[in-house]
Amino acid sequence: MKIIDNARTLLNLYRDYKTMDARDMADFYESKCKYYQGYVGISVIIGALVSITFIYSDYLLNGSFSPTLIPRFSILFSIAIFLIVTQLCHSRAVTVFMDHFLTHAIIWATIWSIYHLENKIHASEGFIIMNLIFLTVGFVSKPKESLYSSLLFIAEIFISNSFNHYTNLDIILALQIPCALAVFLSHFLLMLFYLDHYRVQQQLELAMVTDPLTQVYNRHLLEKIVTQNALKNVENVPVAIAMLDIDFFKQVNDEHGHYTGDLTLLYMGQKLAKETHENDYVIRYGGEEFIIIFKNCDVNNACARMEQFRRDIESSDDTPVPFTISVGVSKYTGDFSKTIQNVDHALYKAKNTGRNKVVVV
Ligand code: GH3
Ligand code: MG
Ligand code: MG
Repeated sequence: MKIIDNARTLLNLYRDYKTMDARDMADFYESKCKYYQGYVGISVIIGALVSITFIYSDYLLNGSFSPTLIPRFSILFSIAIFLIVTQLCHSRAVTVFMDHFLTHAIIWATIWSIYHLENKIHASEGFIIMNLIFLTVGFVSKPKESLYSSLLFIAEIFISNSFNHYTNLDIILALQIPCALAVFLSHFLLMLFYLDHYRVQQQLELAMVTDPLTQVYNRHLLEKIVTQNALKNVENVPVAIAMLDIDFFKQVNDEHGHYTGDLTLLYMGQKLAKETHENDYVIRYGGEEFIIIFKNCDVNNACARMEQFRRDIESSDDTPVPFTISVGVSKYTGDFSKTIQNVDHALYKAKNTGRNKVVVV
């Protein structure tokens, strides 16, 4: 049954949510806020503007526009603050805070207007309508933030009761508390559904930079590293780059078939991934060429590691076919293209001086 499937999916998403670490969680909420803020920002402004039109229902109750004119139009001031702050600051914390700020500003404009109403019996309807805007801000908030905001709303009803003296506070609360709980639950479900979307997005992003045959990174990652200048923060630690090429790989294909050639490439990719550290990058650069970016590793150390790797490959008895590799190594100069030219040159030297060796430039 569909409903049981949905419940199972939600349960799995909840388990995933509970096991997220702090960094993953921060990225997730950042992504959720970026994705929905366009919608939420416009919706809270529309909600605020619509609240001005309630001046007509005030007129129907009071028989005059003037008592609630200033309270209702005061929301324009809050909209201006909202627009200025959200233009100046784009952090998630400020954005979410400002969404809730405008929501509560609408509540206070409503409370102020109710103060000027001769008949306060319809205050409960006014507060119930506020839940629509609460539903909207949940798209960017964490469930905890939504919960605090809803609790604040209930507190605001109590505070305003001290001067508005609602004739039906019990009905207001009897309607508002279940609504607040329902809104909180919908925010929680929304967060889980977004987690589903977020995971698919992460998988797609990873697939974009993963080579399907060898399961190491592909050239897209290299382009990302270059365009985003991802190595700029490693100036204080040494970085070395190696370029590795299988010797006479064409012969492997010709003599053993393309499939064995593919298995050899897969073997290389997996072995490189196993032998390098977590922070290093292993990238399939071309057909049978790989680039390894060693972080926090000087050129001598990188060279020693590649020399060990070369020997392991040469003497390994679990390769699909016996083969050797040639490697060029160079230290990262701060200029990525120049460094790639250097390693390319080193590899060219290794190839021209007998192959099956590591050369440093
Ligand atoms: P060298 O020692 O000078 O590097 O000789 P080589 O034969 O390894 O170099 P060459 O550039 O002549 O040949 C590379 C071969 O790699 C040619 C191409 O068919 C093969 N190749 C490229 N991509 C793949 C792949 O995905 N799978 C397989 N099986 N072969 C591939
Ligand atoms: Mg080759
Ligand atoms: Mg080659």
